Amino acid sequence: MTLVEALVCGRCGRRYAPGDMEYTCPEHDGVTGILDVRYDYERLRDQIDAVLDGPTDDLWSYEPLLPVDGEGVRLGAGGTDLLDALALGDALGVDALVKNETTNPTGSNKDRGSAVVVSRARQQDHEVVACASTGNAAASLAGYAARADLECRIFVPADLPEAKAVQPRLYGATVIGVDGSYADAYELCREVSADRGWYNRNAAMNPYAVEGKRTLGFELAEQAPAADWVVMPMGNGCSLAGTWKGLREFERLGVLESTPRMLGVQAEGATAIYDQFVTESETVPDGGTGRDTPRSNDEETTADSIDVGAPHNAGKACRALRESGGDAVVVSDEAIREGQRLLGGCEGVFAEPASAAAVAGVRTARERGVVEHGDRVVVVATGTGLKDTASAQQAVEDVVTVDAAGDGLPEEL
Ligand SMILES: *Cc1c(COP(=O)(O)O)cnc(C)c1O
Ligand SMILES: [Zn+2]
Repeated sequence: MTLVEALVCGRCGRRYAPGDMEYTCPEHDGVTGILDVRYDYERLRDQIDAVLDGPTDDLWSYEPLLPVDGEGVRLGAGGTDLLDALALGDALGVDALVKNETTNPTGSNKDRGSAVVVSRARQQDHEVVACASTGNAAASLAGYAARADLECRIFVPADLPEAKAVQPRLYGATVIGVDGSYADAYELCREVSADRGWYNRNAAMNPYAVEGKRTLGFELAEQAPAADWVVMPMGNGCSLAGTWKGLREFERLGVLESTPRMLGVQAEGATAIYDQFVTESETVPDGGTGRDTPRSNDEETTADSIDVGAPHNAGKACRALRESGGDAVVVSDEAIREGQRLLGGCEGVFAEPASAAAVAGVRTARERGVVEHGDRVVVVATGTGLKDTASAQQAVEDVVTVDAAGDGLPEEL
């Protein structure tokens, strides 16, 4: 028995019993009626002290707060380090901390969602799991599916970085390259999964993936209770919304005295959540819900993990930004490359462009006076840069070449 009480539609407020609905609210077209998982908070309160006293080495430390019955699938997601980032903080003019999600087992924060989704799939005796992905969710779902002995099918846009297309196949998944965008891959995955009875992890559509991401909020509540800001990149908006949900719940359960503000960062090539947030700031009251599906924007950015033209969880992400008293900013690819160099050179963290957008976002927010000098700022480094060295290549200096005798080595080195 889990402590899930109901699934509630973010659009029409209908409540469903946990066993009755696996994806979105059937009252609306497409994937717009996103369901939110609600728990029995009275009973969670009884369990929280034992949870906090227990180990913190992976996300199953929070098992009573997760929608999984019994033993979850273990590959080591969660329990990641929070690094004191003095040099990065100096460069940005803030008291910086880096939450290092690059050390998750398949290299990104997506492992938190996949751990929960694959555990549920196994409990419900599904044989095949599927998702559409810009790369990291694919690797993550495939890795967890391998551990759970499930088959895995992945739909990706055809122009994926090479390593991101290799990693899920090495975990035994079938990768289907769709001649189109992430949006096309998403829709095709939805149709085929429904037809063939595959369990679908698609972002936002599957309400349980976000539930795993709450554990990032739980960990931050324990590791950085006095943070002023948590800064995250936004693609579909699930990661930020899930993290905020976890922070809010720990406030509600009395673990956290006050919650940090969320700063959501997008790249100039994919600004749909930012656009919606700025528009709604003038029209939607605190706690209100805006549109689920924002206007699409299909420029390009080097930050492929957040290159999402029509995000699926924009409504939840905007609400998280508003509820937390937070803000959103947009950054250029050039600023993202500088962010990559800063994270690497100051702190030894090799992050992919989408992650480095968070660093660039702090700089922009400082310039705009949103984040103030000396604020305690957690930058979430969401994914490793090792899967996309072609992008990183553009951020680094050339190799120094010498002959075997060392001739050519610059004097100044
Ligand atoms: C998926 C992803 C994001 C964005 O998360 P969303 O939930 O789509 O907003 C950011 N960084 C990395 C490395 C990712 O894999
Ligand atoms: Zn509904």
